[in-house]
Amino acid sequence: MDQSNQSYSRGVQDKTLLAMTIGQAFDRTVARYPDGEALVVRHQQQRYTWQQLAETVDLHARAFLALGMQAGDRLGIWAPNCAEWCISQIASAKLGVILVNINPAYRSSELEYVLKQSGCQWLVCAGSFKTSDYHAMLQELKPELRGMISLDPNPPTGFLPWSELAALGANVPLDRLHNRQASLHLDQAVNIQYTSGTTGFPKGATLSHHNILNNGYMVGESLGLTAQDRLVIPVPLYHCFGMVMGNLGCITRGTTMIYPNDSFDPLLSLTAVAEERATGLYGVPTMFIAMLDHPRLREFDLSTLRTGIMAGATCPIEVMRRVISEMHMSEVQIAYGMTETSPVSLQTGADDDLERRVTTVGRTQPQLENKIIDADGNTVPRGEIGELCTRGYSVMLGYWNNPDATREAIDDAGWMHTGDLASMDAQGYVCIAGRNKDMIIRGGENVYPRELEEFFFTHPAVADVQVIGIPDERYGEAIVAWVKFHPGHVANALELQTWCKGRLAHFKTPKHFKIVEAFPMTVTGKVQKFRMREISIEELRTESQ
Ligand code: AMP
Repeated sequence: MDQSNQSYSRGVQDKTLLAMTIGQAFDRTVARYPDGEALVVRHQQQRYTWQQLAETVDLHARAFLALGMQAGDRLGIWAPNCAEWCISQIASAKLGVILVNINPAYRSSELEYVLKQSGCQWLVCAGSFKTSDYHAMLQELKPELRGMISLDPNPPTGFLPWSELAALGANVPLDRLHNRQASLHLDQAVNIQYTSGTTGFPKGATLSHHNILNNGYMVGESLGLTAQDRLVIPVPLYHCFGMVMGNLGCITRGTTMIYPNDSFDPLLSLTAVAEERATGLYGVPTMFIAMLDHPRLREFDLSTLRTGIMAGATCPIEVMRRVISEMHMSEVQIAYGMTETSPVSLQTGADDDLERRVTTVGRTQPQLENKIIDADGNTVPRGEIGELCTRGYSVMLGYWNNPDATREAIDDAGWMHTGDLASMDAQGYVCIAGRNKDMIIRGGENVYPRELEEFFFTHPAVADVQVIGIPDERYGEAIVAWVKFHPGHVANALELQTWCKGRLAHFKTPKHFKIVEAFPMTVTGKVQKFRMREISIEELRTESQ
C-alpha cells in the first residue's frame, strides 16, 4: 500500500464505515448498553445512563418539533461545555436540523456574522459566560430568529427557558420524532463549524452525518475505545475535537463521556480523571502542559489512564514523554486534521514508538487517502515537502453558501487542500513542516491574521496593520500587531487594547502592539512577515531581560 516512492498513501480498507445517521448510531448504542454510563457532567452534577440520555434527548427533540424546527433548519448553539450542548447535538441530528457551533468567546460582531451567514432560525444560548453577557448582546443585536432558547432558568423576555422544553416535548407523540428520523439520509448536512482560512472572513465548513459520525468512529477505533472506557473531554465542544472526536467517538462505541468543567481547567481535569477512574483523556498540547505543570499533579491517582489524543498543534517531545510516564497514558496518540475533514485524517497508532509519536502525525486513517503535492499539483517523491491533501468520506460537503471558497479548497477530483506543509516517509508516516497559511494557533484556538487585520482597519486612527504570531511559552503562540497610524492620529497600545474589549474575543486580542512608521518589505513591495516575527521576538526577548 505504501510501497511507491510517491507521497501518496491510502488507509486500510478493512475497517468498515458506518452507513447510518447520527440518530441511528446513537439509538444502536442505547439498545446495546442501556444501563452503561453515557454522560457525566461534573460541573453540573449530572449523570446519565445511555437509556436516561436517550429519554432526555428524545424529549428535547420532541420539544424542538413542537417549536416547529424543520429538517435543514439551522440551530445555533452558543454555550460553553454542558449537558445541554450534548443533548442539543444529538436531538438536532435526530431531526435533521443543522447545528451551527458558535464559539463561546465570540462577541457581538462575530456572533452577528455567523448567525447571518448561516441563516440561523434558532438559537440555544447560555445566559452568560465569563465576562460575556450573552442575553445583553443578543438583546442589543436583535437577530432575526424564529426562537431563542436560554439555558438560564430565568431569562429576560424574548428567551424561552430550556427548563420548559421537557413539558413542551411531552405533548408531541414519539411517532413524529420517529417519522422525521426515518426520513433522513446519511449524506445530509448536520453541522456547520466556522473556520477562517486565508480570506479572513469565517467560512462555515458544512459537515454531513456520514462525515463526522465516521470520523468519530474511526478515531475511537484507533484508540480501541469500548463500553468499558471512560473518556475525559476537557476540549471545547464547539470545535470538532470535542463534539466529533469526543462525543461521537464515545457515542459510536458506548464509551462514557466525561466533561470536567464548562471550559478547560487543569485542576478540574486532573480531578475528573482521578475521581471518575478515567481510561482516556483528550487535549491540545498546551492543556497537557498546564496539567503536567500543575503544582498538585502528584496528588492525583491517574493510574487508570491508558489512552488519549493530543492534537491541534505539534507536541513537544518532553511533553509526550511526561504524558506517558507521569500521566500513565502509555497508548496516547497524536492526531492531525482540520475542521474541513471532520477533522482527523492522520493518526499515530497505540504501538508506534515514542520517536514516531513525537516526530510524525502518524499514518493515513482507515478509508482515507492523503497525498503531498508541489505548487504545480504533482505528487512529490517521499521525503519531500509539499502541500498535504486529503480525500475520502471525511471531506466536508463544502463551505456554507460559499461556492467560490469551496472550489478553492476542494479540487475536481475531491481532494481537500489543507494549506499545511508536510512530508511523507517510506512507511507512510507524515511530518507537518509548517503552515502554508499564516494562521496563528494560540492555546489551541485558531487565530487568522487576516481577520484581525480587517478588524483593526475599522479603527479610525489605523492606516495599516499586520498581525503575526510569535512563540509563547504559555499559549504556544502569542499575537503581535504591528500598527501604522494615519498622519496626525495618535493612539497607543493601551488604547488599542481597550478598544478591542467587548468587540473582539479575548483570545484574538493581541498581546503586544508595535507602533511603526513602515513594515519590512521586499523589493517588490510584499510585506515580510517572517522579518517582523524575527524583530518582535528579538525585541520582546531584550525587553524581558
Ligand atoms: P482546525 O480546523 O481548527 O481543526 O485547525 C486545523 C489546523 O490545525 C491544521 O490545518 C494544522 O495546521 C493544525 N493541526 C492540527 N493537528 C495538528 C497536529 N497534530 N500537528 C500540527 N498541526 C496540527
